[in-house]
Amino acid sequence: MRKQKGLLIVLSGPSGVGKGTVRKELFSQAGTNYEYSISMTTRAPREGEVDGVDYFFKSRVEFEELIEQGGLLEHAEFVGNYYGTPLAYVNETLEAGRDVFLEIEVQGAAQIREKLPEALFIFLAPPSLSELQNRLIGRGTETEDIIQKRIATAREELEMMSLYDYVVENDEIQKACDKINAIIVAEHCRRERVEKIYLSMLRGE
Ligand code: 5GP
Repeated sequence: MRKQKGLLIVLSGPSGVGKGTVRKELFSQAGTNYEYSISMTTRAPREGEVDGVDYFFKSRVEFEELIEQGGLLEHAEFVGNYYGTPLAYVNETLEAGRDVFLEIEVQGAAQIREKLPEALFIFLAPPSLSELQNRLIGRGTETEDIIQKRIATAREELEMMSLYDYVVENDEIQKACDKINAIIVAEHCRRERVEKIYLSMLRGE
């Protein structure tokens, strides 16, 4: 029987929502059985960051070469630096039947949605979005200007959300991690995915 391909899991969401914190928590837990794809970036390492662990740190020239060679599954410029996902690692790991987990910003997630619509897209949402009403009118202390800014931000966040399969609110890290793991388990049980395995068995593959 042919080995079942792994699932590509994309965690994304607005800037500042805590994607990195949730991702680190997921990978610090025993029993996590998906692989983290280490991204490439042109930003300078922060204190304590290690090349090949946190990121592969590259120069702009090196990064642009990789783009030209088609070495990246997606890439985006974020606050003046490039970030991208190495294509070879993702392909090899998925082919080996292992799930791959990406934690990336929203432009990159949109590129993957185009290229690989069968991937699993999880949107990490800020808790402020569901508290919107309280925040907008509840306290009655905000100026009209601040209320308008909040409405604009919330609208943008809702628009971004429409590309995703699931929305997880990051109200508490552990709860968010539990939901993400539950989504991944459920995704593996989807009829469309499971059916493919049985059909290929019937064909003797
Ligand atoms: P930071 O510089 O704080 O580590 O990351 C900045 C942003 O880049 C975060 O939103 C992070 O999720 C995103 N990011 C990290 N790696 C990638 C990547 O490979 N591709 C894209 N598109 N975004 C990434």
